[in-house]
Amino acid sequence: MTEVGLFLVLFVALFVGWTMGRKTPTKKSKTLKKSIPNDYFRGLNHLLNDQHSEAIDAFVDSLEVNSETFDIHLTLGNLFRKKGEIQKAINIHQNLLARPEISQREMRMVQLELASDFMSAGLLDRAGRLLLNMASTARKSEFQPKILTLLVDLYEFEQSWDKAIQIGSELVKETATKKEIKRLGHFHCEMAQEHQKKEQWKPAYQQYKQALEVDPTCVRASIGAADVLKKQNRYRDAIKELKHVAEQDSDFVSVIIPQLKECYQKVWGSGGYIKFLQEQNDIKPSTTLIMALVEHYMDNDREYAEMFLVEQLRKHPTIKGFKELINIQIADSQGYNQQHLSVLYELIDQLVQAKHKYQCRQCGFSGHQLHWQCPSCKTWGVVKPIHGLEGE
Ligand SMILES: [Zn+2]
Repeated sequence: MTEVGLFLVLFVALFVGWTMGRKTPTKKSKTLKKSIPNDYFRGLNHLLNDQHSEAIDAFVDSLEVNSETFDIHLTLGNLFRKKGEIQKAINIHQNLLARPEISQREMRMVQLELASDFMSAGLLDRAGRLLLNMASTARKSEFQPKILTLLVDLYEFEQSWDKAIQIGSELVKETATKKEIKRLGHFHCEMAQEHQKKEQWKPAYQQYKQALEVDPTCVRASIGAADVLKKQNRYRDAIKELKHVAEQDSDFVSVIIPQLKECYQKVWGSGGYIKFLQEQNDIKPSTTLIMALVEHYMDNDREYAEMFLVEQLRKHPTIKGFKELINIQIADSQGYNQQHLSVLYELIDQLVQAKHKYQCRQCGFSGHQLHWQCPSCKTWGVVKPIHGLEGE
């Protein structure tokens, strides 16, 4: 709904709320017309002049708080918050809280909105105190999941990962939604990364394992655990962790190839590595897999490597694959042909470099880097490598 549409709906709602709030007797029309407050007409005038904020102010003034108009006040407060007029939202919500006639349920609804206002205003301490107080008094109430969700949002914003994990675990016990489970897994990964930076390998590994206990599909935890194991020269264990990624989410196989190659080279050579690449390429081909196989075949049989690449490009055409084919052709040609191919190669290389590699499956944000939390929509674990002609 457009903003103007929303205001019009509110305008009607206010009118209805106001008439209901008055508990109007019969023989209305004449007496009603007389007793509509001036503030209401002032609001209408502002609305017609596109002065939306002034219109809402006037409507708020015209409307007394009672059980019938409670929802309208709450909606108006939220509307101010969404418009960025946080102080007005706080005033409306605090005004509601000061009313002795509102029920305990209504009081909690207002407190939740007020906590959101404080968070939007950057008053994190006040939001935290209010929510913690609510969490202890409203335990087992219908509001507990919402209270805990806001607290987790708060600690996530502050990057207080230990508190986010503690409250996030409580929230997952209350409502085990996929989104909250994923988020909790990533909080453990954030803790693990902090340990990793200080080269505290054991607690880092433990945090990654806890992430996998919470969310067995967390590829970040498997990749992180492999990284810790690699740092401890435990290459065989690191290979197990990396191969697990293929079972968790085949979209991420392209991400682990360089690490996997490095680990195999340290312990077993290329045999198992090539077998893994071939198996994965049969299940879900990607440019990174094809390129890794071509690289290996080139060492032994250039002709076979080229044939393999052409065959793969027919089945799985990508710009990156085409670039590699031109690269092989350059090495096999001479003179003008070689120069022309070099120009073509540079052009395609520029095209490949300009293309984004990763995209958020939630909001469509794309970029060159893999973010575990989408920088745009802030959802965890939704950015993945781009597949198709222009990607993998
Ligand atoms: Zn996103």
